[in-house]
Amino acid sequence: MRDSALAPCAAHPERSRGRRYREAPPRGRSEYQRDRDRIIHSTAFRRLEYKTQVFVNHEGDLFRTRLTHSLEVAQIARSVARSLRLDEDLTEAIALAHDLGHTPFGHAGQDALHACMRRHGGFEHNLQSLRVVDLLEQRYAAFDGLNLTFETREGILKHCSRQNARALGDVAERFLKRRRPSLEAQIANLADEIAYNNHDIDDGLRSGLLSLEQISSAKIFARHQSLVLRQYPRLAGRRLIHETVRRMIDTLVTDLIRTSAANIRKQAPASTEEVRLAPPLIAFSPRIREESLELKRFLHHNLYRHYRVTRMSAKARRVVENLFEAFMADTRLLPPEFQGRAENHVARVIADYIAGMTDRYAMLEHRRLFAIDET
Ligand code: MG
Repeated sequence: MRDSALAPCAAHPERSRGRRYREAPPRGRSEYQRDRDRIIHSTAFRRLEYKTQVFVNHEGDLFRTRLTHSLEVAQIARSVARSLRLDEDLTEAIALAHDLGHTPFGHAGQDALHACMRRHGGFEHNLQSLRVVDLLEQRYAAFDGLNLTFETREGILKHCSRQNARALGDVAERFLKRRRPSLEAQIANLADEIAYNNHDIDDGLRSGLLSLEQISSAKIFARHQSLVLRQYPRLAGRRLIHETVRRMIDTLVTDLIRTSAANIRKQAPASTEEVRLAPPLIAFSPRIREESLELKRFLHHNLYRHYRVTRMSAKARRVVENLFEAFMADTRLLPPEFQGRAENHVARVIADYIAGMTDRYAMLEHRRLFAIDET
């Protein structure tokens, strides 16, 4: 969107708080477009293809990966940003980068790594995403990381403890002052929720871990399914699921746009600074919020705690724990480039190495370290 067409409360790229290392302004694209492009060209972004959310990579080719999830988040976030005349490129950059710091094996991997790191400052995927773009990507001659703008970095840091916020400085200042991030960051955050609630239903049904009958206990699903069946009474199987899910996404996105537009109108923030001081303006209506929470609870009980998911998570946890313990016991097992860095903050360097692994690389590395017939 042309800058002049942006709302006053949007993050205008020419008013960015800038990059950590000074660079010449980009030609033919905005600062936030440059951020988005750098993220897409990063190694961590390519790795998202082989990292998972709920299902482990080898379980099937049709399940979401972190990459397809991030693309769905970006697509939803851009639609919302465009409708509200906010900066699409910043929203997209944040959406594409939001999961860069995830470990292999989804939440099981993150929980295991956090437990391993308990006495070494813990592990948190949001902080790790920031670490990836600030430090771990090594592509540019003049600096470590991607040298993104303040606004993209701040948007990536969705949660942060006060203790970590004090260590991080300005990018985490809002957690100490209890301020809001840009509307663009708020959108990326809720687009994440819309994307995973809906694709986890789809993946849950596809895997056979959830049944249509079961999921009809969630009000929002039942309501949209009956809308589809009223129009196509004989529809069944995958088309019924997709027609239902796409209507749900539409309802959620439309509600988010409508409610947020009303909030923005009422609060009328004249700048991003006023956005920071206002309550969160990007929001669902109370009814849709409640239905969305109910769906989340449904997925927690029935999918994320399904015994087959739990079994896979237990294996994933063991892989991460074994790797961490083996490297901690003997850093000479680390690849040379990590050995050099491991002289200081050994545990953190090991966590960086493990967090950067894809699902299949973690399994391969585990075999290499523990199977005597593997080299
Ligand atoms: Mg996500």
